[in-house]
Amino acid sequence: MIEIQKARANCQKAVNKMIREHDAALPCISCGRFVPLDAGHFVSVGEAPGLRFHPFNINGQCRSENGYKGGRTWEYGRGLDLKYGAGTSEWLKALPKTANFTLDDILYLTDAARHGWPVYLQAYRERFPQHFQLRKSATKAA
Ligand SMILES: [Zn+2]
Repeated sequence: MIEIQKARANCQKAVNKMIREHDAALPCISCGRFVPLDAGHFVSVGEAPGLRFHPFNINGQCRSENGYKGGRTWEYGRGLDLKYGAGTSEWLKALPKTANFTLDDILYLTDAARHGWPVYLQAYRERFPQHFQLRKSATKAA
């Protein structure tokens, strides 16, 4: 368990860093201000551990809002729909909330995250097609 917990923490770190880099030129997802951004989850890790690495569930968010648990969820959802297309926030909320990430999954995602957003998005889709099954069309994500 220790090894997988460490790997999970490392993976979250790599994914969050990749998100911050990808969103660096964008405003905060929930308030629209151009300020330094953290990587903030839309559906929280506590609520849906299975979405903790989902590429659309993590976005650049200002530090104050990211630190304020449960805050700005409505605004975050609106920002998601603007960024990825109408319905994205509802779609994310409807995805399976649990996932059994194996150590192999986690190491795979960590490596993909270190290669940047396009690689990560493709790798995640291939590994977890169930997290994209309800979404029929591709988005303007990349
Ligand atoms: Zn903000």
